[in-house]
Amino acid sequence: MNKKLNRIYGVILNDKKTLETLAPELSEAPYKAPAKAPVLYIKTENTLNATGSVTLPQGVEALEVGATLGLVIGKTATRLTAENALEVVGGVVVAVDLSVPHDSYYRPAIREKCFDGSLLLSDVVPYQDVSALTLNTDINGNSSSRALSALQRDAVQLLVDVTEFMTLAEGDVLLLGVEYQAPQVKSGETATVSCEGLGAVNFSVHNNPTTGLTESKVLTQHAPRVGRVLIDGQVYEVTPADGDNVKTADGRVFAEAAVTWLPPFAVGKIFALGLNYADHAAELAFKAPEVPLVFLKGGNTIVGHNANTRRPDGTEYMHYECELAIVIGKTAKNVKAADADDYVLGYTVANDYAIRDYLENYYRPNLRVKNRDGCTPIGPWLTRTDQIADPMNLKLTTRINGKTTQEGTTKDMIFSVKTLVEYLSSIMTLQPGDVILTGTPEGLADTKHGDIIETEIEGLGVLRNTIVDNKTYFEK
Ligand code: CA
Repeated sequence: MNKKLNRIYGVILNDKKTLETLAPELSEAPYKAPAKAPVLYIKTENTLNATGSVTLPQGVEALEVGATLGLVIGKTATRLTAENALEVVGGVVVAVDLSVPHDSYYRPAIREKCFDGSLLLSDVVPYQDVSALTLNTDINGNSSSRALSALQRDAVQLLVDVTEFMTLAEGDVLLLGVEYQAPQVKSGETATVSCEGLGAVNFSVHNNPTTGLTESKVLTQHAPRVGRVLIDGQVYEVTPADGDNVKTADGRVFAEAAVTWLPPFAVGKIFALGLNYADHAAELAFKAPEVPLVFLKGGNTIVGHNANTRRPDGTEYMHYECELAIVIGKTAKNVKAADADDYVLGYTVANDYAIRDYLENYYRPNLRVKNRDGCTPIGPWLTRTDQIADPMNLKLTTRINGKTTQEGTTKDMIFSVKTLVEYLSSIMTLQPGDVILTGTPEGLADTKHGDIIETEIEGLGVLRNTIVDNKTYFEK
């Protein structure tokens, strides 16, 4: 890799052969119909493999070698058109998107797609038309190939569809999609994925780690409660002051409403839980899940306290979700629930908005529902763990224009803070700044343009957000 890469997005069901093969399955429950929007997923930063040595996850015997190309974004890209889409592409890479073989093709689970070291990339080369190119996969001398001419959405269409709801930033990578049931590689084997004229990726697969554990990073917080704000374009850490005021480290006091709030910490990976409150699952007429239902969100979704969030004009139903957010403070891998507290720095409040119009599947909602720009307010404060006697006994409240519409308690969570840290760290390495949104209780309601939404968690504070229309949002 010769460029600083940022967020990486993949897409499944993006070739015509896969869609044909899976057509009968996709017309049945829980899918009912082929997806209307690109079925995107996130490859987190821990997946980037710079060594060419891949370790099989525990209990896994083989991996699917997903050969694809990645478009490397060269400049901020939002609401692109077919005419200007390719102008934002700074380069292209050959990519190997490794996956644990899986059954559900609607949206892959993090266990299958996001284990450490599961993404290998070639050097970035200048962009060229990729539609006539062929990818070759060689596993221990057995070759197969795949033409890129049969994509359901080509590079241009994918860029247009994706940037309609999420901004791509310089260094982001958009993978063009892997084929269904890609060839498999086992322990002891070596493989090469290549694309003529672009480059090649070589790697080998092992049962046991060939390198030591990742270096452990730690984030500490000296004040019991901190926020981060912009004052005259500069970032400051602030602490609460009397009244509705905040105080900078050099002792200056500002009204809470006079500063621009950022998320209270540098946000890393963002995990979100689906249906983690039994009453909410029942509200949606779902059975409570037996393992945590986790999906990922990208940093483009995050905004701070007092921000605006856009409800697209013409949509039917957009609801808030008040959630306890767990902030990781220390590198965590294979942590046991009993030790989980050592890895949690603190807690904050998140509001995980969803636009139900775009929802095609409750189990792992599409990025069009959950990964929209600015649809996840977080803050205002990061409260250190020692300030919270029991995170599993906190009241949650949501108000629309001052009227209470949602009330619940973290007591009703299906998977606890400790369990979630154990579960996620068994799948991948967690790092300081990673955050886990733990799901929402029942009591969802529609929100309208101009509504002020307050999500509050006992002991953590009140997170305020305003719902705005397209005009207000884009003019800002
Ligand atoms: Ca949620």
